[in-house]
Amino acid sequence: MRYAGVVVDISGGKLDRIFTYRIPDELEGQVEVGSQVEAPFGKGNRRITAFVVEITDTCACDAAQVKDILGLSPRGVAVESHLIQLAWWMKEEYGSSMLQALKTVMPVKRTVAPVRYRHIRLQIDEAEAQSFAKKLSPARNAAQLRLLEALLADGRLPYETATGRLHIGASTIRSLREKGIIEVEEETAYRNPVRIKASEGKAVELNEEQRRAAETILRDDAEGIHGAYLLYGVTGSGKTEVYMELIDHMLRTGRQVIVLIPEIALTYQTVMRFYRRFGDKVSILHSRMSEGERYDQFVRAKKGEIQIMVGPRSALFTPFTHLGLIIIDEEQESSYKSELSPRYHAVGVAEKRASMTGASVVLGSATPSLDSFYRCQDGRYKLLTLSRRAVKEASLPSVEIVDLREELVKGNKSIISLRLANLLEERLNRGEQSILFLNRRGFSGFVSCRSCGEALKCPHCDVSLTLHRGGRLVCHYCGFETGLPRVCPSCGSRYIAGFGIGTQKVEAMVAEQFPQARILRMDADTTARKGGHEAILSAFADRKADILIGTQMIVKGHDFPQVTLVGILAADLSLRSPSYDAAEKTFQLLTQAAGRAGRDRLPGQVVIQTYSPEHYSIRLAAAQDYDSFYGEELAYRQMLHYPPVYAMMTVLLSSKDEQAAERAARACGNLVERYIERWKESGAPERFKDNTGMAAKEPELIGPCDAAVSKINDIYRKTLYIRHVDRRVLVTIKDGLESLTAWREEKAGVSVQYDISR
Ligand code: ADP
Ligand code: ZN
Ligand code: ZN
Repeated sequence: MRYAGVVVDISGGKLDRIFTYRIPDELEGQVEVGSQVEAPFGKGNRRITAFVVEITDTCACDAAQVKDILGLSPRGVAVESHLIQLAWWMKEEYGSSMLQALKTVMPVKRTVAPVRYRHIRLQIDEAEAQSFAKKLSPARNAAQLRLLEALLADGRLPYETATGRLHIGASTIRSLREKGIIEVEEETAYRNPVRIKASEGKAVELNEEQRRAAETILRDDAEGIHGAYLLYGVTGSGKTEVYMELIDHMLRTGRQVIVLIPEIALTYQTVMRFYRRFGDKVSILHSRMSEGERYDQFVRAKKGEIQIMVGPRSALFTPFTHLGLIIIDEEQESSYKSELSPRYHAVGVAEKRASMTGASVVLGSATPSLDSFYRCQDGRYKLLTLSRRAVKEASLPSVEIVDLREELVKGNKSIISLRLANLLEERLNRGEQSILFLNRRGFSGFVSCRSCGEALKCPHCDVSLTLHRGGRLVCHYCGFETGLPRVCPSCGSRYIAGFGIGTQKVEAMVAEQFPQARILRMDADTTARKGGHEAILSAFADRKADILIGTQMIVKGHDFPQVTLVGILAADLSLRSPSYDAAEKTFQLLTQAAGRAGRDRLPGQVVIQTYSPEHYSIRLAAAQDYDSFYGEELAYRQMLHYPPVYAMMTVLLSSKDEQAAERAARACGNLVERYIERWKESGAPERFKDNTGMAAKEPELIGPCDAAVSKINDIYRKTLYIRHVDRRVLVTIKDGLESLTAWREEKAGVSVQYDISR
């Protein structure tokens, strides 16, 4: 007898374990680890779906109680067994239920019927067909004759043409088929997400630095060393060419490659480069594809019909069986971190998947995350540097800082400084293009009272409402909408006004100041339509506008050779975000935005407008000095015990019932405190004994307290932060908290989420 351990496809704290079923004889050999099956569940034997996660010959429980699996799930998609192992690891490492982890490694959960094409063909030779046709009566067998004539003329006929244009009934086709005169061929056409013909793209000759980078990785690979590498090179230094060289080598040695690109940078431009070079060996995934399109790409990957998958975070789970390399471009992007449980980081999971299957990981960035750079220093990653732009004529732009406080002194009330206005004017006269970038991360156009200072807040969430076009106030967390009130709800004053600026307002102001300019705007509003993104970018690339105004979207990976001026309107907006990495994010955004200028032969100029010109993230971004920024920022993180020096875990407890959330948070806090006490009394637990220095010190607990956003959609949120230099300590504490909180989820409606840094 064989038994299957399954995870049931129903969520609930008590169900988060492995259930055992018997595999009946008739299913022997069909049910495997990774199969999706149907099974009777509970007292009523409800038919449910489950995922097989292990197969055993013995049963640990009472065999008489064990029920039989009913069958394979008809529309289920089987998961590779090594992806199930990966899901297990993710559950342990990041904290989630088994079901959540399994679903994460299955980006496509159901089969979607493929598009089928049917053709009709003669099954006999032409002479035979002609003599058969002669025997038919033109009056009674007109349809058969029409079909034979068409087949004699064209050889092969799409089924739909026969039934459509030729008006031939299905019964006619069936009867000719039964007589062995014709056959109907069926083939599956995969929905192809890219409707272009691949042309032969030639490889460039790599320069010295590029070659050294590629060779280091390939030499290690040849020696069986599968490490992690950070390819650090300014925008335009030719990182993508290095990736393609590595991919080329992988293909020639029969291995497959996953290329992760932030969703926002997954544009026609980037995807086309891979298509041109590798043709139909490439496939892509992105969120705008239909479920069917996505499903087909996974099937093609599984069958080995494609060797390269380009896509966002979820492409990490492409079911390749000969994975040789995972590339993560723009590795510092926050979209590589999942916001759903398990809150995994794509880089961490990539490293795990690569180590399970003997593959290497290459991270690329012009502004590496502190996390990755730190790992280069302690030897976990190898650092490979490209220090120059690849195209000789292109040099780095010159950057200057404008202090906005002085503009006010000079009496300039516009959001465009006098210096930037001059340079814009110059570009317009010369017919060159400019980009104006509004850094809005962690900032929104909120409305507050000038009299009492209160901001207008969402009644369901602990956040300020954002002012939209037409004076509507919108909550970006729950979608609540309301009109702009006439008077302040807290003090009754009539002086309430919007603070901060939006891209629409910038557009209006620029249009007023430069009536001759043709302006395009790119933000969440103008790109909402399908293809809106591409349409704006290609209009700008075709020089249909002089000035492009936009948010983060415009600074990611787009190439506009004619842009010679980049204006950053308010560089310090993102510094107001309350998270510990605000300076890092600001530095990265500014550096990337500056990198948009002067990508071709024309020299580029960048103006950074700011109220805090002395802040190191702004000063050093202007100087394009990553190393100094890294030094300052790391010292700050070290001093305040933040990642990457310390690992940090955020435990989030949320409930409709504020008291229940509070009690659960306190219980968690008490458990962690006891753990810390024991550590202080008897030293580091045995399994962490190899730790010395900082790691021998006990973990730190902050909280429990209200979350930064203490209420969303009428659900109260409490948090605890726990820090320690050894990430494993946090995972151990998480395991303890999980067993403590499992019952609460059922009993008190408190849900618990863990977020552990990389
Ligand atoms: P990155 O990915 O670092 O931004 P790219 O790989 O896109 O840089 O390279 C920038 C530009 O330089 C591209 O147009 C690319 O074709 C070109 N390029 C890169 N490497 C070379 C090289 N060795 N010789 C000539 N052109 C190159
Ligand atoms: Zn007020
Ligand atoms: Zn809300």
